[in-house]
Amino acid sequence: MNTEAYRQLDREHHLHPFTDFKALGEEGSRIVTHAKGVYIHDSEGHRILDAMAGLWCVNLGYGREELVEAATVQLRELPYYNNFFKSTHPPAVKLAEALCRLAPSHMNRVFFTGSGSEANDTVLRMVRRYWTLEGKPDKQWVIARENSYHGSTVAGMSLGGMAPMHAQGGPTVPKIAHVRQPYWFGEGRLGEGGDGEERRFGPEAFGRECAAALEAKIQELGEENVAAFIAEPLQGAGGAIIPPASYWPAVKEVLARYNVLLVMDEVICGFGRLGEWFGSVYYDLEPDLMSIAKGLSSGYLPIGGVLVGDRVAETLIERGGEFVHGFTYSGHPVCAAVALKNLELMQAEGIVERVREDIGPYLFERWTTLAEHPLVGEARSLGLVGALELVADKTHGKRFAKDLAVGNLCRDISFDLGLVMRSVGDTMIISPPLVITRAEIDELVRLAGAALDETARRLA
Ligand code: PLP
Repeated sequence: MNTEAYRQLDREHHLHPFTDFKALGEEGSRIVTHAKGVYIHDSEGHRILDAMAGLWCVNLGYGREELVEAATVQLRELPYYNNFFKSTHPPAVKLAEALCRLAPSHMNRVFFTGSGSEANDTVLRMVRRYWTLEGKPDKQWVIARENSYHGSTVAGMSLGGMAPMHAQGGPTVPKIAHVRQPYWFGEGRLGEGGDGEERRFGPEAFGRECAAALEAKIQELGEENVAAFIAEPLQGAGGAIIPPASYWPAVKEVLARYNVLLVMDEVICGFGRLGEWFGSVYYDLEPDLMSIAKGLSSGYLPIGGVLVGDRVAETLIERGGEFVHGFTYSGHPVCAAVALKNLELMQAEGIVERVREDIGPYLFERWTTLAEHPLVGEARSLGLVGALELVADKTHGKRFAKDLAVGNLCRDISFDLGLVMRSVGDTMIISPPLVITRAEIDELVRLAGAALDETARRLA
């Protein structure tokens, strides 16, 4: 089948996630056919540097034969069996043990799911169940952050703070509140309306202000009603938002004053993205629960889970009776076998250390040179996550009018030039495979610069 034939069938039958169905029908899709290393290839013969690692997940890069082999062997041995009731199988057991060895020492249990969204659904049920078993059934409220992304199931969407998602599909899950995000460039520096009014104080004061907003929300709802605070170490889909250095220490101080569980959504930050096995380790946090997915299997097969700290696990185990929750594919043997092999490869190849000591700092050095560009108000990176803030007025950091959709323009140009960057409003973001080389980072930065130049030319 040729490209047009694929496009036609796609148009007629396929509803894509996070897509304007009608607009895509008019434009037609890019058909990605194969991939190797950090490059994807499309049906028209283009080779494109995938600086998003798919959807923040292909941490070991494309085409790893060891992962193919692990899946093939497991498919022959036992393609499916479940972990319900009193059964399990070797891949799920081995993966659970391997994960708990890598996790902070107080986390010794894992509940498997098929995805990050299912992991966060599981979190919601676990934290509410925990407090009920502790004799505090009123502790039902979960506090999350505005503009956060925690998945697309009804609970994931409700925990997430994305207003356009809340606006579709009817009521959200009750007793979930949102507090402000520590987004210095977008909300601190630019002021609420992004109006270019420079704040009187700097990012560190802003970070503390955001932590204070969490405390105010706990007080408003009443500590006796609040079950947990859920957040990503570094907000990914919200726009690669690196919190000011003051933020997490201040949040830790707030949480130490109240009896509220900390849930870290490690779906993006887990498995090396910030140069530690978990973003919580990078920020020196001790979460009660962590949601995981994506990089767990380098995205080769769908698998997620919830790592459960001893405090919560003990109550669920000792007093909980049957936990009436689970998915057909919880701990799927083939997905688990691939995840286990992925973790083994990451350890054998020192991938996490490489991000921390070598390739993360190199990305920072090269990526932040893009701050010189007239369109860029800020260039930031941490580990292997980066962002560029596109602005109309560099001096005052003033945004473009929304209807110009400059971020999407830059994203499309970038794709055409051979680089996958994603746009979140007018923030361009990257999250390349953790195996990316220095030469590939040079190419990435050169292509991003070319995309900025072309964007500026079209806006002129
Ligand atoms: N949590 C975070 C932080 C994510 O970025 C995502 C997906 O992008 C999810 C949860 C949902 O994961 P999934 O798409 O596997 O359901």
